[in-house]
Amino acid sequence: MKQNDTTVIIGAGPYGLSVAAHLRSKNRPYYIFGKPMEFWQKMPEKMYLKSFWSAASLSAPHGKYSLNHYAAATGTHEQTPIPLPYFLNYCSWFQKKNVPDIDSTYVQALRRSDKTFQLDLEDGRTIEAAHVVVATGIAPFAHIPEYARDLPESLASHTQAHTDLTPFKGCNVAVVGRGQSALEYAALLHEAGADVEVIARGPIIWIDRKLYERTGPAKHIFYPPSDVGPPGLNWIIAFPRVFSRLPDKARYDIDRRAVRPAGAQWLRPRVEGKIRLTPDVEIVKATPQGQGLCCELSDGTKREIDYLFLGTGYQAHIDRLGFIDPELRKDVQVNDGQPLQNSSFESSVPHLYFVGALAGYTFGPICRFVAGTNAAAHQIARHIEQTA
Ligand SMILES: Cc1cc2nc3c(=O)[nH]c(=O)nc-3n(C[C@H](O)[C@H](O)[C@H](O)COP(=O)(O)OP(=O)(O)OC[C@H]3O[C@@H](n4cnc5c(N)ncnc54)[C@H](O)[C@@H]3O)c2cc1C
Repeated sequence: MKQNDTTVIIGAGPYGLSVAAHLRSKNRPYYIFGKPMEFWQKMPEKMYLKSFWSAASLSAPHGKYSLNHYAAATGTHEQTPIPLPYFLNYCSWFQKKNVPDIDSTYVQALRRSDKTFQLDLEDGRTIEAAHVVVATGIAPFAHIPEYARDLPESLASHTQAHTDLTPFKGCNVAVVGRGQSALEYAALLHEAGADVEVIARGPIIWIDRKLYERTGPAKHIFYPPSDVGPPGLNWIIAFPRVFSRLPDKARYDIDRRAVRPAGAQWLRPRVEGKIRLTPDVEIVKATPQGQGLCCELSDGTKREIDYLFLGTGYQAHIDRLGFIDPELRKDVQVNDGQPLQNSSFESSVPHLYFVGALAGYTFGPICRFVAGTNAAAHQIARHIEQTA
């Protein structure tokens, strides 16, 4: 099959779906591969989004098919926080309206051949493409701390490995981390009947939105709809192309401040007073013992537990994407594993684009959130249209 002007989008999460919606409206030919919203489908059903309503819409041209449009179409109303099933229903509605043609096959290999790309699919097909958008999300970037790397999955795993927490009823578990994922998994485990301790290497911080709560209509001055980062920085982060023009050091500092691990306020009453919180301590060693584990902590104490949950976040690095051919990978210039990109999200390999967390070095922390889909999808679709 030869498709000289075709774009292949690898991934059907919020980013892949948004890029496809923009290409489709411009009548640009594309294929989109991946399982629709697969990463989110695997989260526990009782989860809520950390993002607020204004920051959780996928992107389609002219601001159509937003959460507001979905609420109007279904006779529902704004939800705070947004329950995961509601968000998934919205995304399914968005997908049916804008991207009805997903092929759920995985891409196994991506390489360059002359001026085009070749992609091998897991079912044996090979596709040729003029443009490729890598939108495979954060799942391959799950960070496993050194002390847990040799532990079997029956004793320890990253939080992303768990959809159903009911098997942990009556178990004695520890959750490592202090970001939203770690704290929300801790709450869900407690509510599922587990005995839970949160172990965090720093203080437990709850996101404080005092300016939002207390400034009436002026809150919109302090908080842009994208709502990533603290007031002041959040407006710079809201415009990823502006962010991309800042010097390296400024981008690094803003990123560090914006992604500080913290929990949403609405989660606080489900955690404080209900779950043992052990801040400012690290696990230094974890060893299988009997049916469970013995964890040695940096304060000299020990914990004997049944299971260890690693809410230890994600570290985006291109080398974790095993489907990219080594020759092609060599031509993608990176900083600390993240591609250098032009203002159209194109990497140093012409017509090869990266979206989501891997675009974070150039475009900032908004790329780790759904709120970043708008800039990425607009820019890429426009660039592809211009260069076709
Ligand atoms: C617990 C948790 C809660 C979160 N809550 C929020 C939140 O409230 N708000 C927010 O904005 N963000 C949240 N995030 C971050 C969220 O994961 C990202 O914003 C979002 O998923 C990024 O979308 P994406 O399209 O880049 O990737 P994903 O949603 O991960 O989608 C990846 C896609 O790639 C496909 N794929 C993977 N490999 C291949 C392959 N080889 N071939 C073909 N397809 C492939 C998958 O099937 C899937 O369709 C949360 C993350 C976690 C872990």
